[in-house]
Amino acid sequence: MNNKLYGNLIFELSQAGRKGYSLPKNRFGEYTIPAAMRRTEDAALPECDEMTVVRHYTNLSANNFGVDNGFYPLGSCTMKYNPKINEEMAALPQFQNLHPLQPAETVRGAEAVCSLLCKSLCELTGLHAFTLKPFAGAHGELTGLMVIKRYHESRDDLQRTKVIVPDSAHGTNPASAAVCGLEIVEVKSLADGTVDVDALKEIIAQYGDSVAAMMMTNPNTLGLFERQIPEIERLVHDCGGLMYYDGANLNPLLGAARPGDMGFDVMHINLHKTFSTPHGGGGPGAGPVGVRKGLEQFFPEVSPYHGNFAVAIRAYAYILTLGRAYIKEVGPLATLNANYIKECLKDVYELPIDTLCKHEFVFDGLKDKSTGVTTMDVAKRLLDYGYHAPTIYFPLLFHESLMIEPTENESKETLDGFIAVMRQIAEEAKTDPDLVKSAPHNTPIGRVDDVLAAKHPVTTYRAIMNCEL
Ligand SMILES: *Cc1c(COP(=O)(O)O)cnc(C)c1O
Repeated sequence: MNNKLYGNLIFELSQAGRKGYSLPKNRFGEYTIPAAMRRTEDAALPECDEMTVVRHYTNLSANNFGVDNGFYPLGSCTMKYNPKINEEMAALPQFQNLHPLQPAETVRGAEAVCSLLCKSLCELTGLHAFTLKPFAGAHGELTGLMVIKRYHESRDDLQRTKVIVPDSAHGTNPASAAVCGLEIVEVKSLADGTVDVDALKEIIAQYGDSVAAMMMTNPNTLGLFERQIPEIERLVHDCGGLMYYDGANLNPLLGAARPGDMGFDVMHINLHKTFSTPHGGGGPGAGPVGVRKGLEQFFPEVSPYHGNFAVAIRAYAYILTLGRAYIKEVGPLATLNANYIKECLKDVYELPIDTLCKHEFVFDGLKDKSTGVTTMDVAKRLLDYGYHAPTIYFPLLFHESLMIEPTENESKETLDGFIAVMRQIAEEAKTDPDLVKSAPHNTPIGRVDDVLAAKHPVTTYRAIMNCEL
């Protein structure tokens, strides 16, 4: 790779007077912008020819890593293949050119997509009704908790302000509860990674009357199925609380189990994870919320219109592509792939909870801790071999978490290639630890100081030019 291509900003490629456009002849006459509203100096914009611009941005785009370039086993994020037919459906002009304020009789097709998608989600989850309004998983959590709050308020049960959240939960759970004005009570996990039911009983004995809900992820963020759900559900319902299901990662459940059947009352689904919308860059996503019968009247207005409609189209296209027969294979295949990687690597990576996992699992760094090679080093070294790193340092239950989620799409050859590289890195950690500690060596940018980047983000060109890189 030619490193020169990466160093330059479009501003640095600028040549005074160079142009990359020609405007058509003005047929509309002149309009003079009032002097008070005009710049006193020209804006400092780059001046480049068209080909320089095309090459610059094409080269930048080639720096991106995505599911379409290679294996992307980012735990808790479900980076699975996004079938291209979804994009074609979402790009159909009949959908793309709709205006949300069009008369209802002109958008019957779009309405049908929304209601058929909701129907499919009900079928897949065992719940009664869905709203497509939330824009993301965290937004769905907030929406679902608002439903729960309004339900308790409708019964004049106003002292229910506490939400029980397991210590293994995704960080958005306590954050959403806090944004919703609720208080968080953390329940501990057992050594096997599942919720400690005795600890839950104590919490309920102490706070019973003020419990609004319990939020759970199942399989949890360790990729483990919570076997005590029937008892947990009974404890929470008996004290008057509702059960909230974080269905951000519904992948392992497709074809295996339904939150509605497990006794959950409210849930969200991340369409962008399980139902294939590209989301590596952060969005747009969709976090539809489903509820048990009788709760749909409490859906709040959390966005205008129907949320991110194009994400809904992709999800519906994906569900139809797989159909009733094949969607059932998603969960079992994702589970098989995760267990295959886990079993092939657990002799060289530390597996703190050695049991059957679901769609993902967590290593606690390398087994041999004497080399000083950390999870961060392993993650960086993987980049040299052309793999996206797994999720690292999450969940917080272990010091060196390395969370791997392969998804159902990957072939055995891809999984074997990844396993071979992970073993190679474990070997390098022993024979040449500095090679791993100073990785990555083959990427356009080496190891960044992400603490500095987070604390002093430099986001403008002028600031970049003024700071010592
Ligand atoms: C991704 C995720 C979320 C948050 O979803 P966003 O769309 O990023 O807001 C919540 N819970 C779990 C378990 C997740 O994996």
